[in-house]
Amino acid sequence: MNKLANLQPLFEGKATRTHGYGIIAGPCSAESAEQLLETAVALAAMGVGVFRAGVWKPRSRPGCFEGAGSEALQWLKEVKRRTGMAVTVEVGTPEHLRQAVEAGVDGVWIGARTVTNPFDMAAIADALSQLSGQCKDNLSVMVKNPVVPDLDLWAGAVERCYDAGIRRLGLIHRGFGYCAPGTYRNPPVWRVPIELKRLYPSLPLYCDPSHIGGNSRLVQPLAHQAIAMGFDGIMVEVHPQPASALSDASQQLTPDQFEQLLGTISPRLNNDQSAQQQLNDLRTEIDRLDAQLLEILAKRMTVARQIGKYKQQLGLPVVQPERYRQLIASLSSIGEAAGIDASFLQNLYRQIHEESVRQQSKQ
Ligand code: PEP
Ligand code: MN
Repeated sequence: MNKLANLQPLFEGKATRTHGYGIIAGPCSAESAEQLLETAVALAAMGVGVFRAGVWKPRSRPGCFEGAGSEALQWLKEVKRRTGMAVTVEVGTPEHLRQAVEAGVDGVWIGARTVTNPFDMAAIADALSQLSGQCKDNLSVMVKNPVVPDLDLWAGAVERCYDAGIRRLGLIHRGFGYCAPGTYRNPPVWRVPIELKRLYPSLPLYCDPSHIGGNSRLVQPLAHQAIAMGFDGIMVEVHPQPASALSDASQQLTPDQFEQLLGTISPRLNNDQSAQQQLNDLRTEIDRLDAQLLEILAKRMTVARQIGKYKQQLGLPVVQPERYRQLIASLSSIGEAAGIDASFLQNLYRQIHEESVRQQSKQ
């Protein structure tokens, strides 16, 4: 698989400049020139370097606000001129891309619904490949996950953009829309973005807690969790009056709420040498302990096989429920004293016991 070599920083590093992790913020939709400027000025004052706003909105049901359209690109130009922020919009068709690039946007994102359809993705990738060399070098392209948790669809969309010559590439995890109703609007299914990051470690992975949560109360904990897990950044919806927003009213934060959120996530410091050294030492210690654990486990299996021979000699069955019950009970009390979670220990010993039984049965 193409390993996406030679990636360049998204937005020339503007997203990560102030906090170490990337920050992109702005309203779900561009509604008016005033709404955009008011939001952007507040965000720029917090040091946010990249502004988002949807101009063409892919709404699932007809009759919803479908965006202000091309006119809003001029409002974004003004945001860029007045605040110096990089600006980014969603594109869903080659024509959107053409207009956005012509208006001088710094980046585009490709939404979940578009990424779900390989025909749409191929058409956008084709339009990307036709941009001039300089446009391609400067344009940041972020690919949201598809609506369904299909890793290949997501990876394929990114690879299409890369093959079109785009090097400022990133991922946005916005949750998956297929699940039964529950806490989240779009459940995160974290293993999917984590697996994609394993395949493409150098590809920046952002979390969009607004679309995952669907509710402003969930945005902070989700953003916090994502950064703690190692995501490279967040994209958050911010609106001056969320309650009267024309789209996604329930999940947008006010600029003040967003500033509070940033205050709860510690900046990423990359230059703390002594913490780095301690981390390395502890990892060496963990590797040493793991080697000891495995050695002890191997010895335990050898003893278990010997026990199996005596059981055979004595005509005893391999599985001895009473002995197993005692083992779990005594381990649980040792574990409790050592501060190890009881259900974790039980699961662990269920696996070890199962393997002992398997080995004894095959003698
Ligand atoms: C958005 O970012 O406003 C949007 C429509 O997102 P998604 O494609 O994740 O639904
Ligand atoms: Mn939205």
